Amino acid sequence: MPEHRLDLAPAVTIPPHLVGQVQSKLAYVDELIASADVAESGDRITLALHAAAGARAAEIEEKVQRVVREMAQGSIAPKVEILEDHLARPTSYSADPLDELLARGEVYEESTGIFTFGPLMSRLIAYFESRFLELAAHFDAQPYRFPTLMSAKFLDRVDYFRAFPHSLTFATHLREDLDIINQFAETAKYEGKGLNSPAEFFSQVEAMLSPAVCYHLYFSLADHPLPNGQLVATAVGTCFRYESNNLTSLERLWNFTMREVIFVGSKDFVLEHREQSRQFMHRIFEELGLAYQVETANDPFFVGEFRKQAAFQNAFQLKYEIRARLPFKESTLAIGSYNYHQDFFGRHLGITLPDGKPIHTGCTAFGLERVAHAFLAQHGLDPARWPAAVREALS
Ligand code: ATP
Ligand code: ZN
Repeated sequence: MPEHRLDLAPAVTIPPHLVGQVQSKLAYVDELIASADVAESGDRITLALHAAAGARAAEIEEKVQRVVREMAQGSIAPKVEILEDHLARPTSYSADPLDELLARGEVYEESTGIFTFGPLMSRLIAYFESRFLELAAHFDAQPYRFPTLMSAKFLDRVDYFRAFPHSLTFATHLREDLDIINQFAETAKYEGKGLNSPAEFFSQVEAMLSPAVCYHLYFSLADHPLPNGQLVATAVGTCFRYESNNLTSLERLWNFTMREVIFVGSKDFVLEHREQSRQFMHRIFEELGLAYQVETANDPFFVGEFRKQAAFQNAFQLKYEIRARLPFKESTLAIGSYNYHQDFFGRHLGITLPDGKPIHTGCTAFGLERVAHAFLAQHGLDPARWPAAVREALS
């Protein structure tokens, strides 16, 4: 546990709607920062450091203040619209399920944010998956299988590097050079927090680990008119988002799984399907006994893009989040989202409707590990106490 602290008064008071989002961005400000805490009042920031800041204190403070100003200065609280509120649905458990899962060997943390799940979580996730597939079947969604690697060239085309640079994970390999490969084989060791090999050993980055599932579908449709002008697809995939110091529990993983149902077509087609998804899932979540609400939200854009993009998403209701209650910490966790990207992917990727206009896209995405985590946080590990539908399916 780090003992060094740095207390700061933010240059601008951080408004309540930004406290959590600023706090999660502070993890990326400096490698010395082990964790950051923004007081709820928004007028105090406490950083826990890996070592004494010494002469670097002023530099760290300047970077923190830059984040605060860029995210909070002049920010107006978005109007959060609640589309569904089932937070009061009865639940029967109030501890953090992670402790019991670890104790029983049901969950193993291989490395920070990288988890192995045993039979209980695996069965639960398979069951929730089967319920999400009911949504896909309702739309007669076509099945797809996407790679885990994602082309850096395409991610560039959709401006991903400007929007979410902080959470990217890069795939590389050794350069094609006999001397380098030999040297690596003879000297590579895991030391401290990683491999000791110099950066020059590694190739340029051509591929990343996928941060989302639906992008693969849009990439596959790039530079062509869409036959028939509409498509509903579904796929499950492993996704990667590097969440730095925020990778502290089952809530935020570096490596997680998403099931998506993806809509491509006209604006009305996508918006109608997004709305139908929400209504269809309402019944399923009720059967799962999940306490949750659905509300308007924004993506965790990088600092420089944050204000503009987040305000845009909120104003146009581009994202609805499904937030499940976590009774053990009296808070909620996003377990999925209903997204509308307007014609963003159509424009950037040259995917067109029969009339030549750019296509619109949207997706319904579920974070499978989070659904299981939230379910266990609400109903505990004893199947006898689970809602009937889940108990019967798994018995
Ligand atoms: P879009 O396509 O609009 O970018 P998306 O399909 O990428 O959206 P998100 O809303 O960003 O979808 O993420 C979907 C779900 O994935 C979240 O609601 C959450 O359940 C899960 N998720 C996201 N990040 C993590 C993480 N670090 N660890 C575990 N689950 C995550
Ligand atoms: Zn998506």
